Amino acid sequence: MTKADGLIVKGVGGLYAVRTPNDTFSCGARGIFRKRGIIPLIGDRVGMQITDEIKKTGTIHEIYGRTNELARPRAANVDQAIVVMSVARPAWNAGLLDRYLTLAELAGIGSVAVCANKSDLAEDETVSGLLDPYLTAGYETYATSAESGAGVEALRTCMADKLSLFAGPSGAGKTSLLNMLSPSAPRETGGISEKNGRGKHTTRHAELIDIFPSGLCADTPGFSMLDIEDLSVSQLAATYREIGRIAAGCRFANCRHETESECAVKRNVGISIHPARYESYLRLIEGRA
Ligand code: ZN
Repeated sequence: MTKADGLIVKGVGGLYAVRTPNDTFSCGARGIFRKRGIIPLIGDRVGMQITDEIKKTGTIHEIYGRTNELARPRAANVDQAIVVMSVARPAWNAGLLDRYLTLAELAGIGSVAVCANKSDLAEDETVSGLLDPYLTAGYETYATSAESGAGVEALRTCMADKLSLFAGPSGAGKTSLLNMLSPSAPRETGGISEKNGRGKHTTRHAELIDIFPSGLCADTPGFSMLDIEDLSVSQLAATYREIGRIAAGCRFANCRHETESECAVKRNVGISIHPARYESYLRLIEGRA
């Protein structure tokens, strides 16, 4: 039997689409994975045995090492998370955006970007003001409009050759952006999140969408906010990357970076930490041990 390596681009109920340089094979997975509790994920690089060259079928016999593994959405080897928030309709929600960033940092995704979408609905200055705290924190930022096309090419460039993930609330315009970035047939706007709201559909179905001219994007609804609730103050501080950097050098053990006047974090607010992000951090640690 012929062996080949490929990438899982789709998974539906135990069947996987594995892409090789020239073909896509429909594959089951060896029983040993289930016995060991290992589930093949979209984004996995795998070794397969081709069972039928004509029908393009095979069996996944090996899953290669993962750089990261996301529980929700179920995906592996995600290079980049792009958190999308609309500047209006629905209104920009900085607290929610920060929660998505915390989840992206927790997931161990190396590169994280912030995208202000529907930028045509606000003045340029307003959009810059919204993105400023994230620029200060060291995130890559993008202002885009699927309506006017502004900023879409810059986003396309940042997605080239990477496996990206769009995260963000429904209504932020993720699907409209994806439709502009992808050569595949346009999909129904708002369809992803609506289906997911019902529960069953997207949990069993995960897919990577091609970005033109290169790159892939996970077609998933994004993270679950539940994971934030169990975090301690120090874990949360570490996910605010500009606070985490400074917190390591704070002289007070178990500091909440909240009240101590000599706290290194407090002293950096307005310098390397934007006041808006510090306030967002304080709101999130409220009542936490
Ligand atoms: Zn401190």
